[in-house]
Amino acid sequence: MDLTLPPAATEWQRRARVFAETELFPHEVALELNGRLPAETLDAIRRAVVAHGLNGVNHSREVGGQGCTQLEQTLISEELGKATGALWGTVSHPAIALKHGTPAQIERYLRPSCRCERRAAVAITEPGAGSDTDAIRTRADRRGNGFVLNGEKWFVTSGDVADYLIVHALVEGRTDQPTLFLVDKASAGISIRREPKFTHTYVFAHPEFVFENVMVDADAVLGSLGGGLELTKDWFVEARLQIAANCLGAAIRALDLANAWAGERAQFGRKLHEFQAIEFMLADMAVEIMAAKSMIYRVAWEIDQGLDRKLVHARASAIKLYASEMAGRVLDRAVQIFGGRGYMRENPVERLNRDVRVDRIWEGTSEIQRGIIGRQLRKRGPGVFTSW
Ligand SMILES: Cc1cc2nc3c(=O)[nH]c(=O)nc-3n(C[C@H](O)[C@H](O)[C@H](O)COP(=O)(O)OP(=O)(O)OC[C@H]3O[C@@H](n4cnc5c(N)ncnc54)[C@H](O)[C@@H]3O)c2cc1C
Repeated sequence: MDLTLPPAATEWQRRARVFAETELFPHEVALELNGRLPAETLDAIRRAVVAHGLNGVNHSREVGGQGCTQLEQTLISEELGKATGALWGTVSHPAIALKHGTPAQIERYLRPSCRCERRAAVAITEPGAGSDTDAIRTRADRRGNGFVLNGEKWFVTSGDVADYLIVHALVEGRTDQPTLFLVDKASAGISIRREPKFTHTYVFAHPEFVFENVMVDADAVLGSLGGGLELTKDWFVEARLQIAANCLGAAIRALDLANAWAGERAQFGRKLHEFQAIEFMLADMAVEIMAAKSMIYRVAWEIDQGLDRKLVHARASAIKLYASEMAGRVLDRAVQIFGGRGYMRENPVERLNRDVRVDRIWEGTSEIQRGIIGRQLRKRGPGVFTSW
């Protein structure tokens, strides 16, 4: 059994690490202190993403992506996840559902997104529909050759910088017709109602959008009419894998910093890591990271070997649940080990501690993941998670 990372994968890992350390880390404190980065800085980062060849890693070379395997994408997300302020969000990662676009949609949306020239935001959640996507009420009613959209979408990550939206809506309001629409943000009838503030400092905003009689052509449908839920599930799976890898990176950075600090700081005439209370915290952090890493790399590798879609869905939930909760525990201990310095915003562990909290909420809360895992146990038995 050879668990060595392939050389191509370690090359992606190295490339992402260099990018994070040279292009993202230097902007962390300015982002934290100002809440935003200047447009010129964001533009420089966007160009650096392309220069480092990290644009469109999740799409095939045929459509302008890098054609990375799932394992390679995991290593990249892990490295980028070390950056605070969700600066990993600056790295173009066009929604996987776009690969189901028509040739014209691929030319208009996917290729320029892979080149970092266009950017999408995914709009699923509504005031009445969070965990329960069946409660979505945004409508797409047929009008002439196209559709007219009406509804409201919340928490639309990167909606401030996106120039098009992938909107989950019901054709004629029918719950059996969930459909994704590609909608240019500049279309008449689209407005941003609010940009609420959140616990974390995030490089972009999460605005609330209102759609009032927004006209789109028939060719705005992504995939098939009524096929929106399946594509949204693909999006959830991809996002859950990415979140798990980001959490892993955040936890590793926190352990590296806390371990170094515990070896440097002395109180009562001894280094902190000589106190068993501190040493045990570091030990628990290391072991939990090791467990998460083993799970995440394994599932990524299995996906590359063609793992059945249902198993991918089940295992993506398991690793998102474990990695996000692991990161919460690891970051909490890292803050504790730094003491008062761990509570200062200039300390990366303070920022990461806030950053990882949302990972237990978005793309399916921990409770929703446990529900998915529980249903799999009932339907397919424990082997889904316990077999090798
Ligand atoms: C910062 C941020 C960015 C986001 N970005 C996006 C985005 O880009 N696009 C997008 O569409 N959405 C986005 N979301 C929305 C996110 O996916 C939802 O917040 C999440 O799915 C939970 O929905 P909710 O907030 O409505 O909570 P609710 O669904 O109201 O849940 C509230 C609580 O009830 C629990 N609960 C609900 N149902 C069950 C159940 N069946 N069993 C047990 N417990 C349950 C939940 O676990 C949670 O603890 C974002 C959210 C945040 C906070």
